[in-house]
Amino acid sequence: MADIIQLLPDNIANQIAAGEVIQRPASAVKELLENAVDAGATNVQLIINDAGKALIQVVDNGKGMSETDARMAFERHATSKISNIEDLFRIKTMGFRGEALASIAAVAQVILKTKREEDETGIQLEIENSAVIRQEPVACPTGTSIAMKNLFFNVPARRNFLKSNPAELRHIVDEFIRVSMAFPEVFFSLTSNGQQVFCLEKGTLKQRITQILGSNYAAKLVAVQEETDYMNIYGFVGKPETAKKTRGDQYFFVNNRFIKSAYLNHAVMGAFNEMIAKDSFPMYALFIDLDPSQVDINVHPTKQEIKFEDEKIIYAFVQSAVKHAMAQFSITPTLDFELDAGIQQLDAVSKPFTEENKSGAVSSSLYKTFTQKNQAHFVESKSGLKHWKDLMGSGEAANTNNLVGKTSMPTAGETIGQQQPLYHATQGNRVPELLMQLHNSYLLATTANGYLLIQQQNAHERILYERFSAAIEGKPITAQRSLFPVTIQMAAADAVLLQELLPDLNQLGFQLEPFGNNTFVVQGSPADLATGNEKYAVEKILEQYKHFSTDLKFSKREKLLRTLAIQQAIKAGTSLGEKEMQQLLEDLFACKVPAVTANGKPVFIEYKKEELDKIFGR
Ligand code: ADP
Ligand code: MG
Repeated sequence: MADIIQLLPDNIANQIAAGEVIQRPASAVKELLENAVDAGATNVQLIINDAGKALIQVVDNGKGMSETDARMAFERHATSKISNIEDLFRIKTMGFRGEALASIAAVAQVILKTKREEDETGIQLEIENSAVIRQEPVACPTGTSIAMKNLFFNVPARRNFLKSNPAELRHIVDEFIRVSMAFPEVFFSLTSNGQQVFCLEKGTLKQRITQILGSNYAAKLVAVQEETDYMNIYGFVGKPETAKKTRGDQYFFVNNRFIKSAYLNHAVMGAFNEMIAKDSFPMYALFIDLDPSQVDINVHPTKQEIKFEDEKIIYAFVQSAVKHAMAQFSITPTLDFELDAGIQQLDAVSKPFTEENKSGAVSSSLYKTFTQKNQAHFVESKSGLKHWKDLMGSGEAANTNNLVGKTSMPTAGETIGQQQPLYHATQGNRVPELLMQLHNSYLLATTANGYLLIQQQNAHERILYERFSAAIEGKPITAQRSLFPVTIQMAAADAVLLQELLPDLNQLGFQLEPFGNNTFVVQGSPADLATGNEKYAVEKILEQYKHFSTDLKFSKREKLLRTLAIQQAIKAGTSLGEKEMQQLLEDLFACKVPAVTANGKPVFIEYKKEELDKIFGR
């Protein structure tokens, strides 16, 4: 029998290889934009026609190419960015495989114009089916312009696989955003079918983010920044109230390369924790810079996954950086600023730093800077203000007394239970008045380090929100049966709405029964709701709920929880007795997130004694 193996002709091999790199117009856009950035351009223009199917052109003012380089650039594995295997571990450019231009030349008609600063004239190349079909000198500015026309003109099967123009355009815009966000110091524009879609002036990262994602983020970004010798993180997260119902405005970059990482996303989501509704997504654009030897970017050109040398440390680092940023935003100094128990048990974190592992893995240098330097503020937070749970001694009544200071006030340094109470009343006995209400709206509570000013309505809103959230999934709120059940007659639309909410309302202590004809009977209401108020309460709930209902980012249930919390919270202007204030504080600091309401309003401000002393020149 005859032998059957044969080598593929070059053009077929090229087309197959090209298919790996250039899957759709957006992949070519990404490669060309990255090449422009790698060439040091400060001005990059992307022009597309027909969602990139007819034309994709990138014009840059980068360093350009010599005549020989211009021809070489389209060969497979031709690159100026690495020359040996070690270079792979210190990559500073976006490209390095030398595959993009070769792939583009295999599947589109290409016109290249390029000129270096030092050359008088530039060169123009026309390429089709991987071959140069025309070459001539050309007058052009310094930089490079690459136009690729009729993508997949010679691979009809692939061309037929392309999606509709709006879908392909969406992919292109995504890539454009990912590259332009990472380089705010570079001007980028995008023109589609002659219309300018983006025009991004050079600026700061914050400006770039608002240029891209919309100016409504302008006042709503919280800066994230942590540095170690080994790894830096910087960028922005959106304030809790900007969280959206759809995932979307979430960007991670590692060494300026956009990546997708469910793992790191989880780290950020964990930092937001109770501050946002469970089914909503916060905005973030976070940049992690670390030694290129710690990441394996050599996965696949079109894949956005990335491998880290020590993923868990990076997880912890990202999460604590975001928590730290959030904590500062909520004006709470040390809100839950500790490593997860799970992460603390990791060898890298829990094991002492021995000579043995010092000499070994590179990851230990990561470990070192992370644990020693970056953990400094964990340590700080522990010696100063502890976790809120400690603050209220896990809600034990004995410790509450320390806060309100009515009984058995500890002297400085005295401990209660296992732990040094965080917010014990005073240092010594100097301040007899430990807690008071101001303007029937604010509570003043002294702490070990200063004092807190607490907005009572916001505090109560937070308490109720957490209580209702717990009730909706677990033990229902006890209802008190009405002795004389009232009936409520509703407008038809309201009745439909109420009907939908019935199961959740039931769980929250409102026992409502449909009675036909848009009528409901209130059989019971939450035990702490004043009787006789049921009808009014239900009407108010619906009213407030409707206020939220245009807000698409939350689920029905989430809206209901927020509605009830807002509606049932004690209002500012309500005078509170000693006991009520005490209870409020106790409940507040038993909350998971005492510092902000579910809707993102601050609950309290802390004034530190040392800062006050500074103000008064003491
Ligand atoms: P890679 O970017 O991986 O090196 P490419 O195929 O994308 O591979 O590009 C090949 C080479 O062509 C690059 O290494 C670079 O030297 C040169 N090149 C590509 N685009 C440009 C550009 N816009 N300006 C200057 N040089 C470029
Ligand atoms: Mg490239």
